[in-house]
Amino acid sequence: MRSVRDIEVLEGIPVLLRTSLNAPMQDGKVVDDFRLKSALPTIEYLRSHHAKVILISHVSGKGTETLYPVYEALSKMVRGLQWCPVATGKEARAAVRSLSAGDVLLLENLRRDTREEANDPEFAKELAMLADVFVQDSFDVCHREHASVVGVPTLLSSYAGLTLEAEVAALSTALSPKSPSLAVIAGAKFSTKEPVLRRLISLYDHVFVGGALANDFLRAKGYSVGASLVSGIEDPRLTELLKNPKLITPVDVVVAKHGEDSTASRTAALDDIQAGEMVLDAGPHTAAALVALVNQARTVLWNGPLGKTEEGFTTATKTLAQAIAGSKAHSLLGGGDSVDVVDDLGLAGDFSFVSTGGGAMLDYLAYGTLPGLQALK
Ligand code: ADP
Ligand code: MG
Repeated sequence: MRSVRDIEVLEGIPVLLRTSLNAPMQDGKVVDDFRLKSALPTIEYLRSHHAKVILISHVSGKGTETLYPVYEALSKMVRGLQWCPVATGKEARAAVRSLSAGDVLLLENLRRDTREEANDPEFAKELAMLADVFVQDSFDVCHREHASVVGVPTLLSSYAGLTLEAEVAALSTALSPKSPSLAVIAGAKFSTKEPVLRRLISLYDHVFVGGALANDFLRAKGYSVGASLVSGIEDPRLTELLKNPKLITPVDVVVAKHGEDSTASRTAALDDIQAGEMVLDAGPHTAAALVALVNQARTVLWNGPLGKTEEGFTTATKTLAQAIAGSKAHSLLGGGDSVDVVDDLGLAGDFSFVSTGGGAMLDYLAYGTLPGLQALK
């Protein structure tokens, strides 16, 4: 991958910078500026080298959302930031033409044009004609074959941005863990996590499976999981994974009946889950076993909450977060929900690296690369 730092001449050059400005918004205002801050290093690098910086990004949602609130919030961090209410076409070209060296322009949400997600070659061409050089700094979309991810790099000489480089460097350390190593894969949707689970089991000394994922494994082991969330995956795939002695599943669980909150829950042995009960968290023995593994580990990788945290089943997740935060291990955390929970606990800063990649992180770990990274080669 070529780096933005390898671009020899930037002075006066229009650079198309695909960046990650998909910040959470409420009532037309950005409510968390973490993503915006992550975008700054590459913007500042290009600006200080007197490029004409053209920012492109998306807002996830229905495809009708606007980046204008991001423009307002980012204006406070990027002096003189300019705005264009479309991403391509005449008006966008005119806005780019009026830029001087060192100016920064933000174009409207790419996904307002359905051709972005369709990877339409015409759309890629319209974007590419705005600039001479392309820089990819949005790791979180690099698993998607969208026009601004894989289309544009076929048309312009393309480079990795500073934040993307840092993300790839950090995640690559997770693919060569130092022994003793522990991976914790939890959360929901077995199908999205199965590839990463398989890869990590070949790389890590211990792989703990928690959250709703564990329910599938407990069921495959022959336990009744009552009314728990399961993904309905066929047993042979699970039993094959379970044969691997590195795979660890919960030894006790926290259960509650439908509609009951965490105060009405009880700890149950695996053979004591009743028909109307749901497994909503890992039990205390499981959490203690995990803490012991964390304490002896040199590398810890964690994705996915251990319980239904949004409904208050946070105990095991909190215990694990505190153990990792207090350990000397090289620690990596990733996944939208996991990061939210650990951030709310005020512990994100105690991890060696926190990935904002979500699906991109899982795919990178599973396959060792992503379409959007390949496109920069
Ligand atoms: P991440 O975004 O960190 O990758 P996921 O999206 O895979 O994590 O999983 C998060 C979701 O998993 C949360 O909504 C959480 O409530 C749910 N979850 C975790 N454990 C359970 C459980 N035992 N039962 C139901 N849902 C669970
Ligand atoms: Mg999630």
